[in-house]
Amino acid sequence: MKIGAMFGDVFQSMFKRPATERYPFERRPAPENLRGELFFDAAKCVGCALCVKECPSEALELITIDKAAKRFVIRYHVDRCTFCAQCVQNCRFKCLSLSNEKWELASGKKDPFTIYYGRDEDIEFLLAKAARRNLETPSED
Ligand code: SF4
Ligand code: SF4
Repeated sequence: MKIGAMFGDVFQSMFKRPATERYPFERRPAPENLRGELFFDAAKCVGCALCVKECPSEALELITIDKAAKRFVIRYHVDRCTFCAQCVQNCRFKCLSLSNEKWELASGKKDPFTIYYGRDEDIEFLLAKAARRNLETPSED
């Protein structure tokens, strides 16, 4: 390209609307069918574990708190999830859905990539149990 033509392009582009968007300051609504973070409705879950078996990425763990009382917690590993929706399609009780609102999932920390879904008291119980176990395990340092 000749230098004169290049300056012509540069000059014209100064008066054109930018082709890109100023994300994250400007956002468009996400498409309706976009597959973002997985959500779990613990109240509907019967603990059949079909979602766990069908997940190709081993992104789901079903933890039974009380089978008779239908109390289950799902541990969801966001970093393993490929957002394929197999789990959503296989759950016969419509407990699972992929959000088109929560899709900005990047993080520089590990913590946000493990999510517990279930009743608050059940999640607190599990986390307390895990913390106790960590205290009981001698450090290898
Ligand atoms: S498939 Fe549905 S009902 Fe079965 S364990 Fe998973 S979320 Fe619960
Ligand atoms: S969307 Fe796919 S990869 Fe993610 S948890 Fe469900 S089955 Fe697993």
